Amino acid sequence: MGRSEKTAKRETFEGLRPRVLVGAITKWFGQVRRDLPWRVVDPATGMRNPYFSLVSELMLQQTQVSRVLEKFGQFMERFPTAAALAVASEDEVLSAWTGLGYYRRARLLHAAAKVIVERHGGQVPSDLDALMALPGLGRYTAGAIASIAFGKAAPLVDTNVSRVILRVGGVDVAGDDKAGLAWVWEQAEVLAVAAHKQGVVAEVNEGLMELGALVCTSDNPACLVCPLRDVCKARAMGKQREIPRAKKQAARKPVVHTVLVLSTADGRTLVERRAGTGLWAGLWQAPTIEGAKPASEVELRGRVGVLGKVRLGTLRLRQDEDFVFQTTHRDVTFRVYRGEIAAEKMIAESATHTFLAKETIAELGMSSPMRRILLDGTQQTSGDAAGQESQRVKADGVKRAKVIQTKRKNGVKQRDD
Ligand code: SF4
Repeated sequence: MGRSEKTAKRETFEGLRPRVLVGAITKWFGQVRRDLPWRVVDPATGMRNPYFSLVSELMLQQTQVSRVLEKFGQFMERFPTAAALAVASEDEVLSAWTGLGYYRRARLLHAAAKVIVERHGGQVPSDLDALMALPGLGRYTAGAIASIAFGKAAPLVDTNVSRVILRVGGVDVAGDDKAGLAWVWEQAEVLAVAAHKQGVVAEVNEGLMELGALVCTSDNPACLVCPLRDVCKARAMGKQREIPRAKKQAARKPVVHTVLVLSTADGRTLVERRAGTGLWAGLWQAPTIEGAKPASEVELRGRVGVLGKVRLGTLRLRQDEDFVFQTTHRDVTFRVYRGEIAAEKMIAESATHTFLAKETIAELGMSSPMRRILLDGTQQTSGDAAGQESQRVKADGVKRAKVIQTKRKNGVKQRDD
């Protein structure tokens, strides 16, 4: 394709005029824009706080807005600036992140804050390349911060934006089709450049995300109230529910975590740090045996007894009801036993194993199911975060168990928390 041909294509957005799309999205977004804490504008500069944008974008990756709203305020109170975040310990950061899942994002945000302090004087950089050089920031997140916090002509594409653009353009491919995705980025750039010329790049980029989240949803696009209904090719073809085609789902892996909650009479509980790689890497937990099937009480006593070279053969254990926690790729069945020992000295403490009071455990970085096990004393399946539900299933080798599940909704994946 020659340059003039390519330019012509870019200008026409597959036959649609970018200026028309920019106008429609800007007008619509002005009417429906939600007041979210990270959208607050500094009256002195008339701009967003870039650090707020950075934190919120990392939190919003694969997590619903409602869940981020529960956590954002507390996190910002604890770490109000990149400098405050940079000097915090990893455990403090992971603890503040609890409930958001995908703890790798918390570690990357922590690392990004350190780079911001070391290389950028504590200020989030505005340059796209400098943003992309920060740990944890890919093209999407860098584009979001550059365009929304700094008003730069940078495109962004997430699952929601991709769905809207594919439908408007009537491009019938799978959501993860490489060529299709490249085309989507190209169109997003056309829109960002056109929006920047009109001084509304932040509104258009955020409007596109909002449109995908609220109107052009994956299962139930509300075309009648969509600002792009008159130009949308998928709607004209009656294919709005078919585009984009579903991605191939990877098979889910069932695993069983058999947990021993061992407490002392004075209310302290034995906890250990998980390995530095894999699921819930580096987070804290009660001693756990992982496998394809539940571990026996004998195995569990042996696992804990080894820590202090003591025999727990006479220790009486109570078994809770099993429950299943679903992450993105796994169904993790938890079988929980509880027991009490007379004195913590029966088991030697170390850097990775220690008895702690409930208040101290509450400050540790832990997965959501482990937090329930250690702090709630039972597996809550109701009154939890939005999007969770309970049901009964038969797990492999395990009694019927409650399932704690996060629904797939509008391109937001289940959490690895
Ligand atoms: S008209 Fe329907 S399919 Fe097209 S962008 Fe709007 S909501 Fe999505």
